[in-house]
Amino acid sequence: MKKKVMALALGCVQLFPVLVFAAERIEHESHVHGLVDMTVVIDQDKVNISLDSPAMNMVGFEHKAESESDINKVHEVEAILKATSKLFAIRGADCEGEAVVVDISGLIGSDDHEHHHADLEAQYQFSCDNTDNLTGIDVLLLKEFPAIERINVEWISNDKAGAAQLTQDNSFIPLD
Ligand SMILES: [Zn+2]
Repeated sequence: MKKKVMALALGCVQLFPVLVFAAERIEHESHVHGLVDMTVVIDQDKVNISLDSPAMNMVGFEHKAESESDINKVHEVEAILKATSKLFAIRGADCEGEAVVVDISGLIGSDDHEHHHADLEAQYQFSCDNTDNLTGIDVLLLKEFPAIERINVEWISNDKAGAAQLTQDNSFIPLD
């Protein structure tokens, strides 16, 4: 299977509407350490995945990264989150990661607000040959971040919708 990941700017016309939709859905979820919110939207031959996680689950802290070691840690996590083919295995369809956007602004960069908590967000888009026989997604990301206790998944496909709860021992989202 050929895997190619290309970072695209947020302004990408094709990608943007679905990602905004997913982000809006996720924004209302609560911030609980150990938990991650994930949305999967299958639209025709595209698979869109959104993640929203407390930074604690992945970086191990939630303060603004100012020391060199903290900044390095954030960029290390950013690189893991951009390695799409290591994070998700889509079963039953031949899919290629074609866009990834990782938002680390909760930890890096200036803003005026005093934060006690910070989130990391990531969005992925895959293009598949045919999603009709898609059986599910193995979320390998769990293995990269042992501090994640549970991922709450909501998914919508071309003709169905559902939810799943993933743990370190059960990383598979059945989609059929
Ligand atoms: Zn927190």
